[in-house]
Amino acid sequence: MHRRQFIGAASATLGTLSPWACATSVGAAEPPDARPGFAPPGLLVPIQARPDRIIDVSVCTRPFRAQGPRIEAQRFGRQTVVHNYGHGGSGWSLSWGSAAQAVRLALATGEKRIAVIGCGAIGLTTAREAQRAGLRVRIYCREQPPLVRSSAATGVWSPDSRICTEAGATPAFQRQWEAMARHSFRMYQSLLGLAGDPVEWRDGYVLSDTPFEQPLVGGLGHDGPSEPDYPDLEALLSDIRPRSVPLARHQHPFDVPHARRYSQLVFNLPAYTRLLMDDFMRDGGEIVHRDFASPRQFASLTERTLVNATGYGARALLGDESIIPVRGQTARLIPQREVNYGITYRGHNLSVVPRRDGILVQAQAPGDFGNADSMPDRAASDAAVQRLAGLFKA
Ligand SMILES: Cc1cc2nc3c(=O)[nH]c(=O)nc-3n(C[C@H](O)[C@H](O)[C@H](O)COP(=O)(O)OP(=O)(O)OC[C@H]3O[C@@H](n4cnc5c(N)ncnc54)[C@H](O)[C@@H]3O)c2cc1C
Repeated sequence: MHRRQFIGAASATLGTLSPWACATSVGAAEPPDARPGFAPPGLLVPIQARPDRIIDVSVCTRPFRAQGPRIEAQRFGRQTVVHNYGHGGSGWSLSWGSAAQAVRLALATGEKRIAVIGCGAIGLTTAREAQRAGLRVRIYCREQPPLVRSSAATGVWSPDSRICTEAGATPAFQRQWEAMARHSFRMYQSLLGLAGDPVEWRDGYVLSDTPFEQPLVGGLGHDGPSEPDYPDLEALLSDIRPRSVPLARHQHPFDVPHARRYSQLVFNLPAYTRLLMDDFMRDGGEIVHRDFASPRQFASLTERTLVNATGYGARALLGDESIIPVRGQTARLIPQREVNYGITYRGHNLSVVPRRDGILVQAQAPGDFGNADSMPDRAASDAAVQRLAGLFKA
């Protein structure tokens, strides 16, 4: 039997149940024409979307550059500094590939011990790639996880999220981006199935009030006229990106006219960050607390090759105004282990990721682009959670 038909048969049989019935009760009901060996599809457990279940509200600043990340070597007196910063909304997704490119530049100096400045997504993965290449690495940083900006990210594979402007996506950049994305993607597949699920694949539903072919004005991922146009790089990875599938009205429980199901790579950031830190320490890494007020202070370090992975911090440290802050806020609801699906509500600025440490609710706000304010706005997260609750009222 074709799987699609099987789903149809199962939902017809269960038609009198609440579409939000718990998965165990679904397992008990067997469609009459089910052949042995195929389990009926689980139904969705509703998210308990209530503001009083918010356990954390965090703000993160995306280090956006119109021309994409800065990955290049620069001479500072007797030292070589390899810059690796400015990854916009794609830092976690591109981290391994970006690290590999930075480490190639570091290896070219011939040094066997290097310093990495920064302990976020980019610093940690650069340090690990350098160790894998046989180098000894010391990290210097002002903050460590979970206090780095990277720890406040959503945690999904989004390699083309605010990575450069349309004009910045030159053919050379597109090649560099594709290499970074493919390298990272491969690394992430090697981190599946580990204890604590640092990385896993999850399904999700993109919901829409209007047909998907109809373009949206605004919506998640765009802040209106103040925000530049971004390139469409997705086609470059079409062979490794699972395609979303359209769902008929009876194939999902949401009270919206249009829905598609997608599969998404999710990073459970606390478990994943801990894994990176543990691996780094196990391979002889050291972490030293240090706050650099100026790159002149790099001269006090004994290492002659440094990788600058200071993220948004590079703007102040180097006076690099090519880095534009893009604010983003997420709220975490008390974890519900049975909730194993994400949601993107198109046109309603709402996206939900079922992380192991909580259900992440992200809402874009007008004025995020160019905004360095890192104060959480609790009312905005309450409103996002209430919008989410509206989807479960059916
Ligand atoms: C709301 C939101 C959601 C996001 N979701 C995703 C997502 O799902 N997937 C994805 O791929 N990306 C996502 N991003 C983007 C991602 O978070 C960033 O691209 C990434 O965090 C950048 O990492 P980083 O290591 O460069 O910077 P940071 O995490 O900021 O780390 C910088 C490090 O440098 C140190 N440092 C800085 N300045 C100094 C100094 N002067 N002296 C000493 N140390 C210094 C800091 O202490 C820190 O250790 C999201 C961003 C936001 C805002």
